[in-house]
Amino acid sequence: MGIRTGAQYMDGLKSRQPEIWLEGRKVTDIVNEPVLRQPILEIAKLYDMQHDPDHQEKITHVCEETGERVSNAFLVPRKLEDVMARRSLFEAYANATYGLMGRTPDFLNVVVTGMASNSWFLDKYNPEWSVNIQNYYRYIRDNDLFLTHAIINPQNDRSKTSHEQKDTFTHLGAVEETPDGLLVRGAKMLATLAPITDEVIVYSFPGFKPGDERYALAFALPIDTPGLRIICREPMQDGKRSLFDHPLASRFEEMDALLVFNDVLVPWDRVFIHNNVEAANLLYPKTGIAQQPAHQSGVRGLSKLSFAVDVACRLADSIGVDVYLNVQNDLGELIQSVETIRALLRVSEYECEVTPSGEYMPAAAPLETIRGLLPTFYPRAIEVIQIIGAGGLLMSPSGYDFENPELREDMDRYYVGREGVSSIDRVRIFKLAWDLSGEAFGQRALQYERYYTGDPIRKRAIFYNNHKRKNAFPLVDQALHEADRAREAAKAIHSEKEEGIADADTVMQ
Ligand SMILES: Cc1cc2nc3c(=O)[nH]c(=O)nc-3n(C[C@H](O)[C@H](O)[C@H](O)COP(=O)(O)OP(=O)(O)OC[C@H]3O[C@@H](n4cnc5c(N)ncnc54)[C@H](O)[C@@H]3O)c2cc1C
Repeated sequence: MGIRTGAQYMDGLKSRQPEIWLEGRKVTDIVNEPVLRQPILEIAKLYDMQHDPDHQEKITHVCEETGERVSNAFLVPRKLEDVMARRSLFEAYANATYGLMGRTPDFLNVVVTGMASNSWFLDKYNPEWSVNIQNYYRYIRDNDLFLTHAIINPQNDRSKTSHEQKDTFTHLGAVEETPDGLLVRGAKMLATLAPITDEVIVYSFPGFKPGDERYALAFALPIDTPGLRIICREPMQDGKRSLFDHPLASRFEEMDALLVFNDVLVPWDRVFIHNNVEAANLLYPKTGIAQQPAHQSGVRGLSKLSFAVDVACRLADSIGVDVYLNVQNDLGELIQSVETIRALLRVSEYECEVTPSGEYMPAAAPLETIRGLLPTFYPRAIEVIQIIGAGGLLMSPSGYDFENPELREDMDRYYVGREGVSSIDRVRIFKLAWDLSGEAFGQRALQYERYYTGDPIRKRAIFYNNHKRKNAFPLVDQALHEADRAREAAKAIHSEKEEGIADADTVMQ
């Protein structure tokens, strides 16, 4: 089939009946569920972009294996142009959602592509796992499927490993092997967009200890597999608030969910890792499934940060406060943060690392640096929006007030901005800013930047440890060695001088 349209994506959603729980009720009509409807339409637009002549050549390619047009997320980069072709896709999707949707289809499609192109790693442990991931890659590529993922154990007692938890199956684990597949039980989080996807892939961050064998798992399933329950968090919007009042929150909310596996059967051909702590711990570092999607995250993060900074600038301009030095200083700082991320992305692309199998991966160090900086840069941009918007962020009337002729004169007099900025334009900018900086939607978007791919503190510690492992700090040795030599040289000159004086003394005597 190859690339799908938005309508085909929505037909897929209509054809299934996953067990979705939202505010204590079961969702039976996904595409017409008010909380999910607009986000579904936003994802559908991304699928349509694949058919749009303005985008098609940039975000898709013709698959060598099938001759069908497929997303660039399924391209295994073999040269810089391939890396940039993937970037074009990431950029197009990120710009279409202002970087506010992190788990657009490209994200996990890249993860699976990375796992499959490095299937040699699984082959070492079990050749069937390697064949399974390659077949799964082809399946999602050729059917253009949208995946969610759940890689974290529920947050119960973090001081204990999985097998030390009070209940053996609080964390997702294998129950038994059957002729048809592996029976699994327990929960995983935090499956973003799960209710509106086609499939779920489960794997884990490293950190398994001996004794955790049953939890050392990786597999994929259709989202409507019997026994799989999706429990959504409380929604942040009800799907009824107007797009005028909430121009971002009403469009881009990514629903997050806990996945509960009630004795779910995973067919053997969908098992990628089972009962192997070493393989589960090394999956991330060995297969590039951190590095390749980190490129997507970096491009998306740049789009989101740039957008927040643009909002801050327009906000300041709309009420004329950007004439003040302190405001200019804050905005200048934000623009420099955008430039920093932009430069790091370029470095990651132009200093690609090439694996022994010839796969191009954007360089890890600049990508990890982006990962380390965005949790500071993005919250700072949000803080500056709050500081500049000040009380005005809490003064916006609703769209209905503008529509009422009795109020219109007051609207135009008291909500007007600096000269040239009408009341409606000023209010619309403030509403955009409030969605980003005040609404629960905006707070989630901020929390996303901190945690979307692990704990930033532990990630930075790993970054340091990797740096230490790879670097012998030769300049430090050189500096110390040179100092030694300089000292010896100085000593030699000194003793020559002493000898000279002694000789002179002898002559004088
Ligand atoms: C908006 C959002 C969307 C997400 N989407 C997804 C998704 O689609 N799929 C998915 O699988 N995951 C997703 N995640 C989950 C994300 O991967 C986790 O939030 C992240 O890995 C951190 O884990 P945690 O939330 O369990 O925090 P914890 O690991 O419980 O950490 C909580 C606090 O305790 C500290 N801490 C905990 N353990 C240790 C330790 N061993 N050593 C030192 N400090 C420790 C941490 O520093 C942190 O301050 C998402 C998260 C967010 C916020």
